[in-house]
Amino acid sequence: MELASRVPATVGTASTPEPTPTWTSADSARLYRVEEWGAGYFGVSSSGTLEAYPNGDARQSIDLHDVMRGLAGREISSPVIIRLPGILEHRMRELRRSFDHAIEEAGYGAGYACVYPIKVNQERHICEVIRDLGAELGFGLEVGSKPELIAGLALTQGFNEMPLVCNGFKDAEYIETVVLAAKMGRNIIPVVEQAHELRLIQRSAAEHHILPNFGIRARIAAPGVGRWAGSSGFRGKFGLTVGEILHAIEYLKQENLLGGLKMLHCHIGSQICDIRAVKYMVSELAHLYVELVRAGAPLEVLDLGGGLGVDYDGSRSATESSINYTLDQYAADIVHRVQAVCDEAGVRHPRLMTESGRAIVAYASVLVCEVIGSRAFPTEPDMSLVRAALEAEDPPQPLLDAFDAYERRAGPDLAEVYADAEHALAEATNLFNLGYMDLRSRAACEELFWAIGASILKHFGEELPESLAHLPDRLSDLYFVNLSIFQSLLDSWSIGQLFPIMPIHRLDEEPTRRGVLADITCDSDGRVDRFPGDAGAKTTLELHAAPNGSYGSGEPYYLGIFLTGAYQETLGGLHNLLGDTNAVHVTVGGDGRWRIDTVVEGESVGEVLGYVQFDPEEIRSRLRADIEAALEEDRLTVTEGASLRRFLDESLQGYTYLE
Ligand code: PLP
Repeated sequence: MELASRVPATVGTASTPEPTPTWTSADSARLYRVEEWGAGYFGVSSSGTLEAYPNGDARQSIDLHDVMRGLAGREISSPVIIRLPGILEHRMRELRRSFDHAIEEAGYGAGYACVYPIKVNQERHICEVIRDLGAELGFGLEVGSKPELIAGLALTQGFNEMPLVCNGFKDAEYIETVVLAAKMGRNIIPVVEQAHELRLIQRSAAEHHILPNFGIRARIAAPGVGRWAGSSGFRGKFGLTVGEILHAIEYLKQENLLGGLKMLHCHIGSQICDIRAVKYMVSELAHLYVELVRAGAPLEVLDLGGGLGVDYDGSRSATESSINYTLDQYAADIVHRVQAVCDEAGVRHPRLMTESGRAIVAYASVLVCEVIGSRAFPTEPDMSLVRAALEAEDPPQPLLDAFDAYERRAGPDLAEVYADAEHALAEATNLFNLGYMDLRSRAACEELFWAIGASILKHFGEELPESLAHLPDRLSDLYFVNLSIFQSLLDSWSIGQLFPIMPIHRLDEEPTRRGVLADITCDSDGRVDRFPGDAGAKTTLELHAAPNGSYGSGEPYYLGIFLTGAYQETLGGLHNLLGDTNAVHVTVGGDGRWRIDTVVEGESVGEVLGYVQFDPEEIRSRLRADIEAALEEDRLTVTEGASLRRFLDESLQGYTYLE
């Protein structure tokens, strides 16, 4: 809320168009394309709030605005991640159902399992939900580093049968841990990613007299597609080339270790947007499997890695934030292709495995943040300022030109008027920078320019000519949100990924403003200015005007950022020391009402300071000493000193976001 007092709600005299009185929740659902990206998990209620349907069934709903009100009552502040474990479970069951259906329909001779790669979201509560349902569905877990291995071992404790696939770079310690875990009775499968790991397995197996089942990751030629295309192909970072695999087989035979080689693995990158890339990959891997079996490898499992994508923008296209296939098509393509290749070669069907992460967890987290202020350009100039500038002695030419353009703002050739206004503004800035224009004249030029733009926009409405297509962006509002993009939405900043974003209430009211989002970091990059639209990404988002002129006081205005469960929760960084946000797990009880199962508190100021080697205790005692010194020298009153102490104490324990 503090920011609201520093950032004027509106600059100048922006006027907001009247909302259409007949606007309904259905209009909002269409505008924000909820059906397209929501995959049946989200919808708009008739009272204008955003609802989640954890089982994909609108009869069991969670009103997200109601949840936010409930959280405020419990003093759990935004930004907050609302995790919906019901969606997580539904996604897992859907994956099971799709593969089971494809297997049954094709008469495929082996089963399927998904191993959830914990790197996609390592939060313990999420992993535990996946582990628990995974035990029922025959799924497992995948880890990719030493810390993840330890987490995986802890998660599978008491679940000895559960497959734990171990990818990533490995050293002797990693391999030894895996071998000993296998000896302990775990179903743990290291995947050889680099040729030297074979020797590590051989040494450890010899030392501990047990050979674990293991896999080899193939570096295949099939190209990946989209943002992570580089994960595959001959120059890929991981896996053994076909030649290296042949050498590996020889080596394993020599060392009498071939019996352990049970899995052939491959991963061509995350978010595979085009189903053709899946088809290529599966064909190549299936042929490789067949050849290796013929060469004597006792392979049983074909692990096709991750890559099952998510339709973030709802366009169902082979573009980076979307996918051009369904889950059923993905499963059917894999099953049919492997079957066809094996049948032709007369080789037994392998058990199928995928390491689908994104497709399981993306939908299950909604990040909710509050708008704490907005800034709009004036739609009317401050005429007293303009007149004073014009009446000065010898007013500068750009000001006269801008005023002339302003006077023609309702005339016939508006494209020319706008071009003149733009030119006048550029000249004014030049003159000012050279020291030939005073502040008042420059301010008047800017006011006139924005007003001309607004007037032209109003005149054309939706029918804007091509030459002025950029105008809505240029004049759009800035909505300040209590959030760090770098902490909570890293892929939006780093790779330009689209996420569905929309208000979670007031949806029965027309959003009459267009804006981009700016976060509270001190970085101009901390903004979101691409949103899923009907024809590709749009550069502004439709938003509601503040009911009483300014945000940051009165009823909070909440925006939901959807499909953030994959990668966003743990990739983010501590830019400006804005830490992890609060998170809550919300489920629907037997009575149909939502309830909070788990609250995970976000990081405190003291905690994040500790990450960068500041000791909160030391800070406290140093600043207290400073306050004492100021009291002694009468620079602070006793009351002021006490306030400052209290503020410091509360801040160190408090949330890193604005409260
Ligand atoms: N498996 C491996 C080896 C990966 O590197 C990744 C991520 O890139 C995954 C699985 C998860 O992929 P996704 O989230 O696309 O399912």
